[in-house]
Amino acid sequence: MSERQVQDIVIIGGGPGGMTAGVYGGRAELKTLILEKNFHGGQMVSTAEIENYPALPDTNGVELSNLMLEHAKKFGAKIDYKGVEKIDIEEDGIKKLTLTGGDEIYTKAVILSMGSTPRKLGLDKEDKFTGRGLGYCAICDGGFYRNKVVAVNGGGDTAVEDALYLSRIASKVYLIHRRDELRANKTLQTRIKESNVEIVWNSTIKEILGDDKLTGVITVDKTDGSERQIDLDGLFVAIGGIPQSSLVEGMVELDKGYIVANENCETSQPGIYAVGDIRVKSLRQVITAAADGAIAVHAAEKYILEH
Ligand code: NAP
Repeated sequence: MSERQVQDIVIIGGGPGGMTAGVYGGRAELKTLILEKNFHGGQMVSTAEIENYPALPDTNGVELSNLMLEHAKKFGAKIDYKGVEKIDIEEDGIKKLTLTGGDEIYTKAVILSMGSTPRKLGLDKEDKFTGRGLGYCAICDGGFYRNKVVAVNGGGDTAVEDALYLSRIASKVYLIHRRDELRANKTLQTRIKESNVEIVWNSTIKEILGDDKLTGVITVDKTDGSERQIDLDGLFVAIGGIPQSSLVEGMVELDKGYIVANENCETSQPGIYAVGDIRVKSLRQVITAAADGAIAVHAAEKYILEH
């Protein structure tokens, strides 16, 4: 039987947490591989402006993603654009990853960095109209709505940033939020209130309108039950994310789908770490994901030495 080729660290997911783990793993001269099933950068790629990452007050998601990947590669980390279907733990503690297509990779430690994907509204026509007036990434698709009328649904940082971004492109932007107060940070709250975005408070979307493509929505005001039809060319849904943790269900402890990890990013399973948006944490930002990546590699290095 041929001998197993064993990596030191395999990082599943190439967002800011995963790529920072790549930098630290490579620099520690550990055999480090990042597996990413889509594109490196994760959700960061759909952020137009990033102005709270130290030393880079004026960058964007694509630029920062590319810089992080080059940095990780410079120190020897490798990236392979493949998905992981299954993780098994062998008797000796080595983790076996089965990739999409059937290849197998063995590793001493695993860093889970799969992030989250956009939550859907769960309404009729939502799937049918995705790409036909309805989208989840204003930065990716906002350009299609030059001088048109669009709405963003949500009240968090993403929704407010998206609405501000679109206000520079579209002729009219609505921000539809289910409460009378935004969840977004105070800086964004001030900016949106100073902008020409019309906030539709206390409202949820009851129905998506249109035959072949989205032409509007009907909202319901929860304070009095009144309904309003808003005619639109486009709608961006930005109502938070769903952690992509199904791969490790039953293997590590989860809380509402988020991975429970301690201060060292250790999960309930020895040698398996969680970083970034996928773990239970109070602040989900590029900087906190990146910090997790550094911490997880430090812990993994210790684990590898001890085992
Ligand atoms: P989020 O903070 O979870 O906000 C989701 C928003 O959608 C909330 O306003 C929520 O309303 C609303 N919502 C949730 N489910 C809904 C539903 N079924 N129908 C209608 N509205 C619904 O998500 P996010 O804005 O995507 O941000 C995710 C994380 O990334 C956050 O930690 C955020 O701070 C971070 N982030 C940071 C930046 C930045 O610092 N520049 C940028 C983007 C994201 P309620 O408020 O009523 O709960």
